[in-house]
Amino acid sequence: MEKEELMRKAIKLSIDNVTNGGGPFGAVIAKDGEIIATGVNRVTTLCDPTAHAEVSAIRAAATKLGTFNLSGCEIYTSCEPCPMCLGAIYWARLDKMYYANNKTDAKNIGFDDSFIYDELSLKPSARKLPSEILLAEEAIKAFQQWTEKSDKIEY
Ligand SMILES: [Zn+2]
Repeated sequence: MEKEELMRKAIKLSIDNVTNGGGPFGAVIAKDGEIIATGVNRVTTLCDPTAHAEVSAIRAAATKLGTFNLSGCEIYTSCEPCPMCLGAIYWARLDKMYYANNKTDAKNIGFDDSFIYDELSLKPSARKLPSEILLAEEAIKAFQQWTEKSDKIEY
């Protein structure tokens, strides 16, 4: 399938998802022009704040391919991703992202994630989310164990 066809599939998923009670977002993951997996926004239908279209598509593609590394695949998302999904796209090692609607389009209909993008550039102490360091000297033991582990699966 050509990239326009793959994006039209993501857009159709987003439109159909509105009809089905979900948010107006859809995503497709493809490899060599073939669809590996799709995802739609199911935040409200699953009561899962992380069930965004892109994360859902990544989970489905990784399960289908049996790998946490989706290099060689591309994602087609009906809207420019939020910071969580953009992070997931990087973690999944996807080769390329295509998007249709942009952040401003999303903001204009009530999906404003610009505040998260703004927060990311701040030091933790300056963010709206209160956070403090707690028991770091105990938590570091897991990192030491990881460093010493000889048979770990690095990712
Ligand atoms: Zn997202």
